[in-house]
Amino acid sequence: MAAVSRRGMDLTAKGPEQTWSVIAAARMIIDVLRSRAPGRAAKSAKTAHEFFELSLKNNPSKFGIACTKGCAYCCHVSVTATAPEIFLVAHKIRELPQQDFGDALMRVRAADQRTRNMSSRQRANNKIPCAMLKDGLCSVYEARPGACRGFTSVSADDCRNGFNGLPVQINTPAVWTALRSAHKQALWGALAAVNLPHECYEFHHALRIALELPDAETRWLSGEDIFAGVAREIISDPAAVASNKRIIDQVVAGALGHEIPQ
Ligand code: SF4
Repeated sequence: MAAVSRRGMDLTAKGPEQTWSVIAAARMIIDVLRSRAPGRAAKSAKTAHEFFELSLKNNPSKFGIACTKGCAYCCHVSVTATAPEIFLVAHKIRELPQQDFGDALMRVRAADQRTRNMSSRQRANNKIPCAMLKDGLCSVYEARPGACRGFTSVSADDCRNGFNGLPVQINTPAVWTALRSAHKQALWGALAAVNLPHECYEFHHALRIALELPDAETRWLSGEDIFAGVAREIISDPAAVASNKRIIDQVVAGALGHEIPQ
């Protein structure tokens, strides 16, 4: 845990060492979730994001990314996030002055109304911007969900073409893909270890609930399914479901000091 909190995950290390880095990150997240700190769900997402960012800093990629400030093609596709990630964004919005908070809530409600029940394809085709996008910039950048952090591209032309409806493949450097997986595994494993849901919810609808219910986070932490009516990410490939389960089981066992299942 000390090594991981100093430098994050080392992608040049052998497989088992990388697994132990994810387990250490999960353990740090579990410690946050088990604390009595108010807002600990949001803090757990922040810990997962810090693990991702620190790891990214210490694992330079051979491939540069084309993502730059003001380029926001990818902020027009559907985003899903875990409950803690949603609460972290809600905290960021709640810090705003009252007028700005009201504006942000209005944008979230309008975006939810437009995108509710849309498929990812419909969402992309309709070029509907994320409610958090303001003047071409993410207004909650430091708190943005893991899905946004991991989604990078080596070619802005590909992103522009995809935005304009052309069939393109968006290539993400392996470092981002690997660290996004590690981020998910650590956060999902930690949530599973403390018996909280690790499902990923449609961003606008879930954020609206987190902003409209003043005690949303406390109710969620006490086991209430406040996101019951929100669309959630479904993984349809049975092999991917089985593989996710196996990894989460390993992370939970390792983080709780039990024997790791193979
Ligand atoms: S949260 Fe920020 S980075 Fe993510 S899609 Fe919305 S505007 Fe873009």
